[in-house]
Amino acid sequence: MGKKSNVETLLAQAGHYLDKESGSVVPPIQPSTTFARNEQGDLYNSNRIYARDQSVNAEMAEAILCELEEGASCKIFASGMAAATALVQTLRPGDRIVAPTVMYWSLRAWLIDFCDDWNIKLAFYDPRNEADMVAVVKAAPTEILWIETPANPTWEVVDIQRAVDLAHSVGAQLVADSTVSTPLITKPIEYGADFVFHSATKYINGHSDVVAGALIAAKEDARWERLCKVRAQQGGILGPFESWLLLRGMRTMHIRVERACENAMKLAQYFEGLSGVKEVIYPGLASHANHEVAAKQMTGGFGGMLSIRFEGGKEKTAAIMGRMKRFVRATSLGGVESLVEHRALVEGEGTPVPDDLLRFSIGIENIQDLIDDLEQAIRG
Ligand SMILES: *Cc1c(COP(=O)(O)O)cnc(C)c1O
Repeated sequence: MGKKSNVETLLAQAGHYLDKESGSVVPPIQPSTTFARNEQGDLYNSNRIYARDQSVNAEMAEAILCELEEGASCKIFASGMAAATALVQTLRPGDRIVAPTVMYWSLRAWLIDFCDDWNIKLAFYDPRNEADMVAVVKAAPTEILWIETPANPTWEVVDIQRAVDLAHSVGAQLVADSTVSTPLITKPIEYGADFVFHSATKYINGHSDVVAGALIAAKEDARWERLCKVRAQQGGILGPFESWLLLRGMRTMHIRVERACENAMKLAQYFEGLSGVKEVIYPGLASHANHEVAAKQMTGGFGGMLSIRFEGGKEKTAAIMGRMKRFVRATSLGGVESLVEHRALVEGEGTPVPDDLLRFSIGIENIQDLIDDLEQAIRG
């Protein structure tokens, strides 16, 4: 022994939890909002005063996520958006953030409004074009370069190492939205990322029953200190019960992610080239524009997300979705159940997503059931 245990062991045992007093192998939910002092006025636990700053259950999940990403510190939030917006709020008026044109839709919409209101410079780059990223980042002094890889819903894979080198060459910090990769497939900090972002609502929890977000810092620098203050003062914290559920969901993350990757690959391979199918977009396919980068940095599989474009345009595509019986027609991703969504219709006007595209979040069901369902829907 002596050596740290591997991630599968860490996850399955919820950080090797064991309550020596009761012998319980499952942690209790600790709802206390306040923490007491002794007769001298000293806190019993010097780390905790009040639950908006410190939470027993949140800290358990944070410790595991921090270790998974090999970071220095982790904070979880009431949602992915709460985490992402808190990080952007560490910028000051006049600072500049550079983000991709293809990224999580609600975050993009919020960035546009927020940066305009608070005089933060915002510029977008095309994640399909590295030269464009370089040009946009170098066009003006920049504090944060945001990447999302693979990016929703067309799964562009950004070379994290190259993005880090670019950001650092101009004194900017790099944030990687690694929600779709999960900490089991890619660890952005290994490539030098300064911050990793996750919507923990997705694969980390994995059961479509908790909304949560996480940020992991490579080091506890001045921006991280500001970030911790933003969370403590604005209060976008995750409650004890949700934190407890998150920890419980994480116990099986490695098994869920492995099966989702396996299922997604089989489904992508089966439908690529089939009649009625225009294009299967999945980083694991050799035909994917960024397959080489994906093969290099997605070391634990190519993820459970893929999109398919169909012949016959918007109406035919909507009809295919309507005929699906096992896939659930719903937004979100990363749960154990497979979901399908017509993104262009959901995003509405101004969306860059083609209207003949369906986005699939592949779950852990029997793969033949999923293939049969999509095939019957395509055949009509
Ligand atoms: C869901 C998601 C978010 C936002 O997270 P919430 O938990 O829904 O607030 C951000 N980025 C990506 C890639 C997501 O999938």
